Amino acid sequence: MAGKPKTRPFRAETRQLLNILIHSLYSEREVFLRELISNASDALTRMNYEMLTNRDVNNPDAELAIWITADESARTLAVRDSGIGMTADELAENLGTIAHSGARAFLQAVEEGQGKLADIIGQFGVGFYSAFMVAESIRVTSRSYRKDAAAAVWTSSGEDTFTIEPSDAEERGTTVEIKLKEDAVEFAQLHRLRAIIRRHSNYVPFPIYLGADKEQVNQQTALWRKQTREITQEQADEFYRELTLDFGKPIAHLHLNIDAPVQLYALLYIPSSAERNMFALRKEDGLKLYARKVLIQEYCKDLLPEYLRFVQGVVDSEDIPLNVSRETVQASRAMPQLRRVVTGKVLDLLKDLAANRTDDYTKFWEGFKRYIKEGVATDRENTDTLSPLLRYHSLNHPEELISLDRYIEEMKPGQAKIYYILGEDQRSALRSPHLDIYRKQGVDVLMMTDPLDSFVLLTLTRYKDHALVSASAEKPALDAAAGESDSAKPTEDESTTVDLLDRFKLRLGEKVADVRLTDRLLDSPARLVDEEGAPQPEVQRVYRMLKQEFTAPKKVLEINPNHDLLKRLLKVDRTDPLSDMVVDQVYEDALLIEGLHPDPAAMIDRIQKILLSALK
Ligand code: ADP
Ligand code: MG
Repeated sequence: MAGKPKTRPFRAETRQLLNILIHSLYSEREVFLRELISNASDALTRMNYEMLTNRDVNNPDAELAIWITADESARTLAVRDSGIGMTADELAENLGTIAHSGARAFLQAVEEGQGKLADIIGQFGVGFYSAFMVAESIRVTSRSYRKDAAAAVWTSSGEDTFTIEPSDAEERGTTVEIKLKEDAVEFAQLHRLRAIIRRHSNYVPFPIYLGADKEQVNQQTALWRKQTREITQEQADEFYRELTLDFGKPIAHLHLNIDAPVQLYALLYIPSSAERNMFALRKEDGLKLYARKVLIQEYCKDLLPEYLRFVQGVVDSEDIPLNVSRETVQASRAMPQLRRVVTGKVLDLLKDLAANRTDDYTKFWEGFKRYIKEGVATDRENTDTLSPLLRYHSLNHPEELISLDRYIEEMKPGQAKIYYILGEDQRSALRSPHLDIYRKQGVDVLMMTDPLDSFVLLTLTRYKDHALVSASAEKPALDAAAGESDSAKPTEDESTTVDLLDRFKLRLGEKVADVRLTDRLLDSPARLVDEEGAPQPEVQRVYRMLKQEFTAPKKVLEINPNHDLLKRLLKVDRTDPLSDMVVDQVYEDALLIEGLHPDPAAMIDRIQKILLSALK
């Protein structure tokens, strides 16, 4: 091999990759630097390992580091490392063929047309060749750590061939020199390089020195790899800021340093708010996944169930093999274990907040309740952990948020069920006639006014042995006997109640399924209830949300013959137009309060007529 330059063709596959990369997408080009740094870091890791047993190498005392220099006017960039180096044969072998599975999988994904190039390129480690996205030509000078090996230099302009010739370089390691394309001169600017290094390679375990003054740019010691007690609140917050560019303080953070059943370090955050601000660095959901400090996936969505997607942070595991390519990481055996541990710990954190840091939990709940509700509705395995996290306003606590546990603690003697009422918003729910009797008996009712609550109720039919039931469907049963009095007729004289029912039935006709008397109401003249056997209100609501043209089954109008309004109605002659107007208005008021009125403004005309006759 020694002697004169030798020009060789790239392997066909390699050429194909080069072509794709060279013509690849502009905005993704900066990842080439991550690839070069990761190669340098790998070479240093191997050198480190070699020196554990062998000091008889070239430059045994050289600092293990990476140096990056650039010259904007010459349009050059160089990445040097003092790693294991390559012999001439190794240069030809390693840089002439696609050695690694990442690039091969990348090619395959491109061929199969799996998504846009921009999407896939970021997911794969496309390796050394990605430098041709920015390079006119590349020159790799290397000297192996082996004392008997001579230095060599590899050059190529990314066309069909590369050349190898001897070099007189003396220092151990590899220097990748890039002559930048005209439109890639930004990669010779130190501030640009600094930003790219921080973004993609901040936690490479060897120092990365930038520029002639050898400024160390990377953090090197990953914060998450420290002992929990060594990490101050300030450092944790600062790391969050760097990671997300969210300047709000995270609601809580969690540091994990675990050995079994799977090794992992993690630094996880509940963000300050559920909305991503417009400068947010994190463009997608998912945690940053490192394997032994090397970034494997920027947005790993496999570490948490979907409903915990708001969690931000970093997971780093020694149990993900280093040679795992970025696309096979999902299939790695460690992943399901990592997911179980990370999910469990995040849920523990929430539980702890809920129990011990009420103010923080309230803040969390305001911002993130939809995720917890989504969890209750979807993650049946964790229902017992998630449902205690639910919080609601209630009839007895309209200003406060209470948990289901608190509800149970405050149950009336003999009360076995948990009552809730669905509604569009809390104000109208509180006015609901269904609550009359609960109010009178002091029985609490949870206000479920969020559309997601309907989904929660589909899963959560019981909580700790107490059935959850709709206050509109049942009356508060404080003991077995109390439930029986349902059919008791109000103490009214027969003929007048018949008259009353008649007026409503005749006037409303097909609009209602039936009209009947009730003793459930106190302050309200009427209410609408479902017919026996109709779907539960929350089920109807879900239907309504999922399919637009769902028509609610007709309701039964229950009227309260003891209410002054209806007593007075009987004093108005049936033929008086006022009688029908009152009937219509009572019915439409009931519709309104159920959130079922199709056109409330249409009532105004009638209301004015009623007012007019009141003023006569
Ligand atoms: P990968 O890093 O996934 O193996 P690359 O295309 O990035 O694929 O690199 C190909 C090979 O070239 C590496 O496996 C390594 O053997 C060799 N190589 C690249 N850069 C260096 C370097 N700085 N020092 C030593 N070897 C290197
Ligand atoms: Mg590589």
